[in-house]
Amino acid sequence: MQKILNYINGAYCEPHSGKWLDNYNPSNGEVYSQIANSDATDIANAYEAAKEAFPIWSNTTIEERSRILLKIADLIEEKMVDLAKAEAKDNGKPLNLALTVDIPRASSNFRFFGNAITQFSSEAHESIGLQTMNFTLRQPLGVVGCISPWNLPLYLFTWKIAPAIAAGNTVVAKPSEVTPLTAFLLGEICTEAGLPKGVLNIVHGTGPSAGQAIVEHPNIKAISFTGGTKTGEHIARTAAPMFKKLSLELGGKNPNLIFADCDYETMLNVTVKSSFANQGQICLCGSRIFVEKPIYEKFKKDFIAKIAALKVGDPFDADTNLGALVSKPHLEKVQSYIKIAQEEGGTILYGGNPVTVKGLENGYYLEPTIIEVYDDQCRVNQEEIFGPVVTIMPFETEEEALRMANSVKYGLSATLWTTHLDRTMRLSKQLEAGIVWVNTWLNRDLRTPFGGMKDSGVGREGGFDALRFFTEPKNVCIKY
Ligand code: NAD
Repeated sequence: MQKILNYINGAYCEPHSGKWLDNYNPSNGEVYSQIANSDATDIANAYEAAKEAFPIWSNTTIEERSRILLKIADLIEEKMVDLAKAEAKDNGKPLNLALTVDIPRASSNFRFFGNAITQFSSEAHESIGLQTMNFTLRQPLGVVGCISPWNLPLYLFTWKIAPAIAAGNTVVAKPSEVTPLTAFLLGEICTEAGLPKGVLNIVHGTGPSAGQAIVEHPNIKAISFTGGTKTGEHIARTAAPMFKKLSLELGGKNPNLIFADCDYETMLNVTVKSSFANQGQICLCGSRIFVEKPIYEKFKKDFIAKIAALKVGDPFDADTNLGALVSKPHLEKVQSYIKIAQEEGGTILYGGNPVTVKGLENGYYLEPTIIEVYDDQCRVNQEEIFGPVVTIMPFETEEEALRMANSVKYGLSATLWTTHLDRTMRLSKQLEAGIVWVNTWLNRDLRTPFGGMKDSGVGREGGFDALRFFTEPKNVCIKY
């Protein structure tokens, strides 16, 4: 059976413990590979390799760093089909989605930061009349830790690694133990691209063992984490007394506000995607849909018809819209929320049941599910489900819509559907979310800040924000 090995100091190696974790294929429920079950010793080894590489890499010219990052981007593109197949198999997502979203974006992450670093400059401030000159260096931090989740495996893993190494840091990184395959494949791509050994070290294993060891390591200077809010809270508690720099991209419960004056057809088509793309397992999916009363009944009817036409099936079939959920425990968690919704008095308008796919009877499939709720404070409207489940509810006034949109502990993204300019301006200002999309969704320019408010996180990724996170500003003040 295939072994998912650690990649430390430029070479693949077995975990120190000699222990392995089962890796499941969610589309058929079978174990198909073994994952290195790493512990603090593997993290210490990865740290040593990264520490050794740091003086060389941090003094490597920007042109050379950029050249290697662009080469990695090219290689990901060249291996697009193999990587997409690996992602679909490991995660259960439709192959089409991996081919059009996940893997192209992983390549773009390296290309973007390979280019961005060439434009990242220091600042100078001349204190005129005081014969003083200040300049601010932006120096890499040293060895940094990157920890990522399972929903967009290579996409989110590279979103952290690319800016970290572009800025001259060396990295100890851990992908999710639920979906480690494409991160494993990234190791050989980096070697092929000529990334010096030790610059990127990829260690596999569970959160409480390998992940915790990264966060606890006294000399790993910063942690860039994407995952659940509870885990983020735990990481913050561990890292804060060591004064580590922290970037936390956490959970969401994103609202969709749909006004009667919107471009209805576009809204309807995009709302299908923002609800159920990647089986609803994107932190940016709009899981709470609020619709203005005059179009509520029409929307309900049209939305249900669209959803009923979606095909749940084998991730490798070209016409599959929803593949498998990522794991059995996750499927059970999502199903438990459908039960809670019923207990709370919600109405299942569509879906709610597991799906049996012919030939893949043990896979983790679930119907896309629409729940009508009557109180925006109910649990299914407040807690992150992170699956193919959305709630819908009508609203009468803009104030009511805004109040409900903001009445959750999360604040990652919000989507607004309206052609009314004043309303767009008013709501964009007042929505408590790090990202507001107006008449669009998942429309990403990688230069823009990405991240959440409230319990959705601390800090911003993307563009120069990411390069600033991975560098320490040092002001040098010279009197002449
Ligand atoms: P998770 O928090 O369970 O795990 C994320 C990563 O953290 C994994 O690699 C895991 O092994 C590791 N981890 C777990 N415990 C740890 C510990 N004690 N110390 C260090 N590392 C630890 O999250 P998940 O279930 O993999 O992902 C789903 C969550 O991620 C959802 O809440 C979703 O909203 C969130 N998410 C957020 C964003 C964003 O950009 N804000 C993007 C994608 C996913």
